[in-house]
Amino acid sequence: MYLTGHCACGALRYRFDPFDAVVDYCHCETCRRWSGAPVTAWAQVKPAQFEITRGAAKAFRSSPRATRHFCGDCGSPVYMTDPDGQSIGIMLGTVDDASSLVPQGHGWVSDQISWFKIDDQLPRWEEDAPYDG
Ligand SMILES: [Zn+2]
Ligand SMILES: [Zn+2]
Repeated sequence: MYLTGHCACGALRYRFDPFDAVVDYCHCETCRRWSGAPVTAWAQVKPAQFEITRGAAKAFRSSPRATRHFCGDCGSPVYMTDPDGQSIGIMLGTVDDASSLVPQGHGWVSDQISWFKIDDQLPRWEEDAPYDG
């Protein structure tokens, strides 16, 4: 069963199969600046499980390992890809119903804003989660 999502203005829409999705928070500085939010949350799936159904994203190469895709009309950050095509990271805030996608950990807590208190027992990683190599 597919989940759907879209940017703030609706020009960019997608769907994805959430099977085996890896869901986590990222506190890194790049995600913070790109999203404008103190923390981001992501669902990662295989590229074959993700499909743009309307519009086209603009791209920003944020590092050699990551390209971030956003709506050129409203600016919403929507998804991230890697040059090896290993996974697509979907911004959880753009998913229409993300209630089944429960984060399983916190990445990059070394960049976490000091007043942001994590009130859960999930694993925390100083930098990348181990599966993000
Ligand atoms: Zn938009
Ligand atoms: Zn990040």
